[in-house]
Amino acid sequence: MTDLEQFRIDTQKWLAANAPASMREPLRSDDDICWGGRKVKYPADVQRWLDVMAERGWTAPTWPREYGGGGLNKAEARVLKEEMGKLRLRPPLTGFGLSMIGPLLLQEASEDLKRAHIPPIVRGEIRWCQGYSEPGAGSDLASLQTRAVRDGDDFIVTGQKVWTSYADKSDWMFLLVRTDPAAPKHLGITFVLMDMTSPGVSVKPIRLISGASPFCETFLDGVRVPTSQVVGEINAGWTIAKALLGHERTMIAEAFKDRVPGNPLVELARKHLGEADGRLADPVYRDQVAQVEMDQTCLDLTIRRAQDSMKAGHKPGPETSIFKYYGTETNKRRRELMVDLAGQQGLGWEGAGFDAAELSATRDWLRSRANSIEGGTSEIQLNIIAKRVLGLPD
Ligand SMILES: Cc1cc2nc3c(=O)[nH]c(=O)nc-3n(C[C@H](O)[C@H](O)[C@H](O)COP(=O)(O)OP(=O)(O)OC[C@H]3O[C@@H](n4cnc5c(N)ncnc54)[C@H](O)[C@@H]3O)c2cc1C
Repeated sequence: MTDLEQFRIDTQKWLAANAPASMREPLRSDDDICWGGRKVKYPADVQRWLDVMAERGWTAPTWPREYGGGGLNKAEARVLKEEMGKLRLRPPLTGFGLSMIGPLLLQEASEDLKRAHIPPIVRGEIRWCQGYSEPGAGSDLASLQTRAVRDGDDFIVTGQKVWTSYADKSDWMFLLVRTDPAAPKHLGITFVLMDMTSPGVSVKPIRLISGASPFCETFLDGVRVPTSQVVGEINAGWTIAKALLGHERTMIAEAFKDRVPGNPLVELARKHLGEADGRLADPVYRDQVAQVEMDQTCLDLTIRRAQDSMKAGHKPGPETSIFKYYGTETNKRRRELMVDLAGQQGLGWEGAGFDAAELSATRDWLRSRANSIEGGTSEIQLNIIAKRVLGLPD
């Protein structure tokens, strides 16, 4: 028996013995998704699943063991994913720590910063938010005005961030600040890590069309941030910011699958259209469902190929804009289709006339409208693809 076959057997046994039974069931609500952190209390079984997986480093299976990760190679990580899939197990942890700032720190940060921040991410102890956007700096991010003025070993940070997803539930923020206002706009920016409990930080939630309030305005009023929390060099944060955006775009493209075991689109279609000869009864909708499923599968396979290349040491490049664009546009089509094929039942907001899947179809559709804005708009991704992937002129 090969080592990998043995690893599969051990993994099967371990998962069967340690995964709480409820982690194999569909999510009861978004509250069941574990983002970790100090501010939110999760149901006991969700917390237990996080703890046992974190103990083995399997919340971040391929990260190095020295920082608390699982230290698995590519093949082992795939086996773990496959075995979790067979049991329909939910991921034990999600969030910007695992998908954005963790990979970035592993790639770019000093040893001290890695040792300080990576293990708490793996254990789900610290939840992170992203402080990039400002009222006058979205697509034109380099126009940001939040100032950081040096005072001994600290920066004093003053300004405002906006659309900060989960700022009210996060413990730390990674943010961009202007440290040299006299320099050309891309050259005076620094990438820093900030404890959200620092005096001078305040957050105010913003309500979305879907009824949820996942993000906030964040006000920074003379906040002290130690210069030891700078990632990369002072005034050279733009390069770090762009490296992080590569991780963010891949994460967003990926975020729409795997959240719920099973396939809500196909299940909803079966329920509302019925089946004939084991196929969806309506041929027009059947085509549309098949097209979305095929497009999603192509994207998933392409992302997997890119992730393998990243694990082999390549940094994410401008091609991540393709993932972001294609992933979000596909998700928008999927959500629209779900509402469409549910007919009148796809228009529910609340009340006994609609079941949970129908209500979430409506709200998820409304939420999906933001997919092509958050993390960089579709127009901006198309600009990047045109210039930096296809090499077209300005
Ligand atoms: C749900 C959601 C969550 C978010 N979470 C976060 C977060 O956690 N942290 C964070 O920092 N930010 C976050 N954002 C902010 C997001 O990154 C910005 O909204 C986005 O970058 C667009 O910036 P803007 O809103 O200023 O729009 P603008 O830049 O003002 O763009 C307005 C319109 O003009 C178009 N446009 C602008 N410039 C060009 C150009 N050069 N060529 C062609 N078209 C152009 C845009 O595509 C868009 O359609 C979030 C946004 C949303 C909707």
